[in-house]
Amino acid sequence: MKFTDRYGEFMKGQKEKVPAVQLNNLKAVLHSCEIKDMRSKDRNTGVCDSPQDCPVCDGTFFPSLLKDMSVIVNFFNKRAKKLLNSHLASGFKKYILRLKRKLKLKGSHANMIKEAQDLVAYATITTFAVQKILKKYDKVHCSKKGQRFKLEAQTMHLELLKSPWLLELMAFHINMRKTEMKARLFGFDCSLHIDDEDRALFLVNLSDSIKLNLDLTCPICLDTVFDPVSLTCSHILCHMCASSVAAVTIVDGLQASASEKKCPICRQGGVFGGAVHLHELSMLLSRSVPKYWKERLRRERQERIKQAKEHWESQCRTFLGYE
Ligand SMILES: [Zn+2]
Ligand SMILES: [Zn+2]
Ligand SMILES: [Zn+2]
Repeated sequence: MKFTDRYGEFMKGQKEKVPAVQLNNLKAVLHSCEIKDMRSKDRNTGVCDSPQDCPVCDGTFFPSLLKDMSVIVNFFNKRAKKLLNSHLASGFKKYILRLKRKLKLKGSHANMIKEAQDLVAYATITTFAVQKILKKYDKVHCSKKGQRFKLEAQTMHLELLKSPWLLELMAFHINMRKTEMKARLFGFDCSLHIDDEDRALFLVNLSDSIKLNLDLTCPICLDTVFDPVSLTCSHILCHMCASSVAAVTIVDGLQASASEKKCPICRQGGVFGGAVHLHELSMLLSRSVPKYWKERLRRERQERIKQAKEHWESQCRTFLGYE
């Protein structure tokens, strides 16, 4: 089956209507271009000159794809966030509900796992769709513009593979693994590797061609990330380390950081305000490196108390007019 058909089937198979890349429309744009392009192409070699701006496609192809991607990423992030929040909440509710409706809760957990799998499959096939259509763009135009567009999309935070929520779904997947689950349509696999020095490496296999290797060492403290947050550029730091780079206290929070503060790795600005707390990854790491986690927790508690105390003291001074 052709990919476009497979993609269409997948989207049709969803319980409700979900946003998709308009592959057929984009292909139609490229098709009408292909014809024009053939005229200027060297008929003997089939090779065309270095790419020019394309008068037919550039005004429609990229804006249309960009719009699709932004709707898709928004949908995915929102959906994953909602799902994982309800998982976290269920931890507290569990105690109350356990006696009341044991079976029902079990069922809702199974639903959560299934929904997580579906979301990962959705992210995977959508990534494929974007990759394929961009490759086709480059093929038609003999250009590298499609590949460059992929990088631009990344800086606009429109890359699903870089979404912190995908990472959270993966951590969730491992956290829940004891209940035994298999991905239905797209077999994905992920695992956390811990070395002798408690350093963590997250390996994700979404398909044969989509693999992610994520080193979970914090670039600031050079330890495994503790209480991790993902900045909007998708670099991961300890919450406390991110706060110190952003020059805010734990009390003020990362959203209080000045917009000129930059990511210590990629130097992108304004990446702290929209940082996402990686709760599932935290849970996973706390189980995987328990001794290290306990020690960091102890140290961090002292630092947090100190910061909170300083914060309130300064608030009092301001209130009393000493500053
Ligand atoms: Zn064109
Ligand atoms: Zn750190
Ligand atoms: Zn960064």
